[in-house]
Amino acid sequence: MTVETEVAVIGGGATGVGVARDLAMRGVDVALLERGTGLNAGTSGRSHGVLHSGARYAESDPDGAADCLRENRTLREIAPGCVVDSGGLFVRLADDDSAYFERKLDACREVGMDPTRLAPDEIRERVPGIAEAVEEGFGVPDGVVSPARLVAATAASARDHGASIHTGSAVVDIDVGSDSGRLAVHVDGGPTIAADSVVNAAGPWAGEVAAMAGAQLGMRPTRGVMVAVDYPGLGPVLNRCREPADGDIVVPHGEQAVLGTTSVAVDDPDTFEREDWEVERTLSECAAMLPALADAMVERTYWGLRPLYEPDELAREGRGISRDFAVVAHDAAPGLVSVVGGKLTTYRRMAEAVADRVCGDLGVEEPCRTAEEPLPGAGDPERLDQLAREFGAVGPADSDVVRE
Ligand SMILES: Cc1cc2nc3c(=O)[nH]c(=O)nc-3n(C[C@H](O)[C@H](O)[C@H](O)COP(=O)(O)OP(=O)(O)OC[C@H]3O[C@@H](n4cnc5c(N)ncnc54)[C@H](O)[C@@H]3O)c2cc1C
Repeated sequence: MTVETEVAVIGGGATGVGVARDLAMRGVDVALLERGTGLNAGTSGRSHGVLHSGARYAESDPDGAADCLRENRTLREIAPGCVVDSGGLFVRLADDDSAYFERKLDACREVGMDPTRLAPDEIRERVPGIAEAVEEGFGVPDGVVSPARLVAATAASARDHGASIHTGSAVVDIDVGSDSGRLAVHVDGGPTIAADSVVNAAGPWAGEVAAMAGAQLGMRPTRGVMVAVDYPGLGPVLNRCREPADGDIVVPHGEQAVLGTTSVAVDDPDTFEREDWEVERTLSECAAMLPALADAMVERTYWGLRPLYEPDELAREGRGISRDFAVVAHDAAPGLVSVVGGKLTTYRRMAEAVADRVCGDLGVEEPCRTAEEPLPGAGDPERLDQLAREFGAVGPADSDVVRE
């Protein structure tokens, strides 16, 4: 059986559902294919869930940081029920470089933030368990976002605008170069989808999906661990103000705190090692900021894979650079567009860039409206949780918060 559509989107993480929503809102016929039994089965459901202000990247990638800040504000408008306005703090401990602290503070100002400089007493007031070694800090508008709610509400919006969402639909092959110019997407045990364009939003698996169409997409996924511990009442997202390294962020999550993370190259996104040292190092480094974490009960650990694009990574050094995104059209597979990299925080902006590209190819002139129209259930946590359950979108990142 063959199903006809204008665009097939492969991948039901934040990026894929964002693309489906954007295109559907512009009147394009879309079918989204996700191999998991539910949406949010990949990296999106396995992040820290920080709604970045951009402060983490302000000195290394001001453009990426400005994107974060803009999208941070937009998501608070269109999806308030997906966001907790926790605020964020950057803290410098006694051994950390004070020149780096000043550089970051200046860079945050230049990006458009209004960071408040805080003395140790003021930091202790906001974060009672902070280490004695804290020397100074500043506040930024970080928040916490629920990927399950965000992905599900975005998918619901796409569906409301006419998109069809197919979970349990693993793409196994893509035929290109037919006389009609249309592509044929083959789903394991399912129908073939015939489409004018195919968007590859398969995150860390995007290289494999591109190869199915005979195209090359160099990916360099890296894994990072997150450790959720029993730690009620943290308050703000706590960031260590130093050159990026293992274990420099603690995220408030209801009664818990989520600690992160590491960065280790991975060959195969389906079968990668998960090592104890990553958990231990993350715990001990984060305990330098909050000593009580060393004895906190570990509730769960999970790993996520950064969908990093190799050409960008080769041009970068280390982890200080923002995880920016790339939209790639493939000469070897006309009609296939891949989107890789980025962040959960900037998923809407990534989707807009992809939809602009695809609409250009299809001759669709409708503008993007995703930043203006609120998501379904935008301010209603009960409704958002219901959508998350309906789409099977609850993942390890917020299984403690989204009610089953
Ligand atoms: C450790 C870590 C922490 C992070 N923390 C944050 C954070 O705090 N804040 C933030 O903004 N960003 C964060 N990020 C980044 C962010 O999570 C990712 O950039 C983003 O979620 C990627 O979304 P995606 O939709 O592109 O990929 P994914 O969410 O991985 O989606 C890809 C989907 O494609 C599906 N798929 C794969 N192959 C096929 C196939 N053949 N057929 C059909 N479907 C297929 C997969 O099942 C998956 O659901 C973090 C990333 C990591 C690794």
